[in-house]
Amino acid sequence: MRKNIVAGNWKMNNDLSQTELLLTDLKKQTQTSNAEVMVAPTFTNLHHAFISLKDTKIEVIAQNMHFAENGAYTGEISASMLKSVGVETVILGHSERREYFNETDELLAKKVDAALAKDMRIIFCFGEELADRKSGKEEDVVGSQIKNALFHLKAWDYKNIILAYEPVWAIGTGETASPEQAQDMHAFIRKTIADQYGYEIANDVSILYGGSVKPNNAQEIFSKPDVDGGLIGGASLNAEDFFAIVNAF
Ligand code: PEP
Repeated sequence: MRKNIVAGNWKMNNDLSQTELLLTDLKKQTQTSNAEVMVAPTFTNLHHAFISLKDTKIEVIAQNMHFAENGAYTGEISASMLKSVGVETVILGHSERREYFNETDELLAKKVDAALAKDMRIIFCFGEELADRKSGKEEDVVGSQIKNALFHLKAWDYKNIILAYEPVWAIGTGETASPEQAQDMHAFIRKTIADQYGYEIANDVSILYGGSVKPNNAQEIFSKPDVDGGLIGGASLNAEDFFAIVNAF
């Protein structure tokens, strides 16, 4: 049975004292849904957040990692380093990494392998740009992003894979895919996985939607049968808004 998941991506926001305030606010919230809840602070605040949230059900996850185990990669962080501070899940392939740091499907395949080798869970992000959607190519783009980075995996690897469909035109723009657009794409994604690995695997993979999810639209998006949760940017920086989304299931 696939899980409902709501993950907050804090991006490059919040220094240590701001992180402390947000963690304190998060601990005041009440969860009424069954969703798994995750937050992704910056690297410098991961350990602090892990200690602070240790006795809660909120998991602390990372926004990125390098594929190498260690070595001469100035400024980078490995899977083992993340695990050493309590992190078991990493976001890979976010559109901002693809756009500003030139992360390609080939590089992401290496990162996926490195995370799985350490038995980490991965929230793997992908999504089309506005021009792709305007020209009707959104399924081609999404299909090839998934195939190029994930189709070398074995069926059993999918127990550690969470997919996140994030149309680039909806991230941080206030523009959301309609619930029907999200459902259509999520059904296509599940079929893409099923065609390669069978429906037993595909039905167990959680597929999150990301792109301007807010308290006022989360419930309608989450009500769609193939939408298993959300990856939340802006609205995850406010604990009340974030938990309104967590409780929208
Ligand atoms: C994101 O960056 O993953 C995201 C979905 O951002 P926002 O919710 O702000 O659109």
